[in-house]
Amino acid sequence: MIDPADDGVSDEAWAEATASCVALRVARVVRETHDSCSLVFEIPGDLEQRFRYQAGQFLSFKVPHEGQVLTRSYSLSSCPEVDAEHKVTIKRVDDGRISNLVNDTVKEGDTLMVVPPAGLFVLNDKNRPISFFAGGSGITPCISLIKAALPTTSRRLRLIYANRDERSIIFREELEELVGKHPDRLEVIHSLDDRDGLLDLKRIEHQAVDALEGDFYLCGPSVFMDLVERALAALHVPGEQIHIERFVSPPDPKDAAAEAAAGSGEMAEVAPETITIVLDGEEREVPYDPNERVLAAARRAGMEPPFSCEEGYCSCCMAKLKEGHVRMVTNDCLTPDLLEEGWVLTCQAVCTSRRVRIEYPD
Ligand SMILES: Cc1cc2nc3c(=O)[nH]c(=O)nc-3n(C[C@H](O)[C@H](O)[C@H](O)COP(=O)(O)OP(=O)(O)OC[C@H]3O[C@@H](n4cnc5c(N)ncnc54)[C@H](O)[C@@H]3O)c2cc1C
Repeated sequence: MIDPADDGVSDEAWAEATASCVALRVARVVRETHDSCSLVFEIPGDLEQRFRYQAGQFLSFKVPHEGQVLTRSYSLSSCPEVDAEHKVTIKRVDDGRISNLVNDTVKEGDTLMVVPPAGLFVLNDKNRPISFFAGGSGITPCISLIKAALPTTSRRLRLIYANRDERSIIFREELEELVGKHPDRLEVIHSLDDRDGLLDLKRIEHQAVDALEGDFYLCGPSVFMDLVERALAALHVPGEQIHIERFVSPPDPKDAAAEAAAGSGEMAEVAPETITIVLDGEEREVPYDPNERVLAAARRAGMEPPFSCEEGYCSCCMAKLKEGHVRMVTNDCLTPDLLEEGWVLTCQAVCTSRRVRIEYPD
């Protein structure tokens, strides 16, 4: 695809940005609609283990763009229970940089730098019905979850799928086929802006009101999600029944660096001089600089903990806080339940007590 050097990214910067990545070959590009395409990847045998995934998880891509390396995540629209290949589906965003670049230029045989699967938007172990609310490209993890839930559970599934118009519906035929095979388990309700008007609070409440005992999985652009969340709040649906995946781009590295620099000028909080980190059963006392993130301190000390997006949304770097306090700069994935259990995102955790002990899961 794009040569990092052509895009003004030095070899060193590229090597650093892609340290957690694997080069994957695009086996096929599938044109899904006029404004979306799917990339199908070949996973070589020696990478199978690292690319094992659960339905609903995503891959992240590192792409050189005008002197920076941008990170973009794309949910797997394939499902490990039924699909042999890994597939992501990317919809154009108006003036979006990478979504359009991918739709315009990526072709079979290209190689992309990919962070292995991550994410917490997966099926829970309850057996209650599920209502999916998907807006546009938000269908990608939902169809993966639907394909997984049909053969592995007995849950009843309903998808409310909002699109601008008929030609924008991604996976229309695949969904019809699934309904045809499971008419008593799966219901798909299309909402088309040009036919039905924009989905509003009243219509969302109407779709949700007879499913209040079930789980709700929400995915799509922010405006759509905010609306569905407001409707579910009005219906008093408990938080533990609501699962959300927000499709956002992380800040550009140069903006994130400027933000971090501004933040480091803040009044120093109480900070330890060293912190205890347990990784792979090994306990280490590592030096800690005030305002440093736990992940950065661990890596500076030569440890190799897991990480991926470094933006607070992928969950790869999760670890348990066993002693002390941390402040998370951003948290776009840990639910209140996980926070309650002591999980933190080490890429975002700044230590705020004299003693801190972090344990990575085995
Ligand atoms: C976990 C996760 C899973 C996702 N899965 C999918 C998926 O399956 N399919 C999918 O299509 N998308 C998915 N996304 C969204 C995807 O990662 C990107 O956010 C999306 O493709 C837009 O990226 P872009 O580079 O094209 O747009 P960007 O360049 O990031 O621009 C996004 C918007 O911001 C505006 N903008 C751009 N630059 C600036 C600037 N400097 N200042 C102000 N505004 C600006 C643009 O006009 C545009 O409207 C997912 C996101 C996450 C976090």
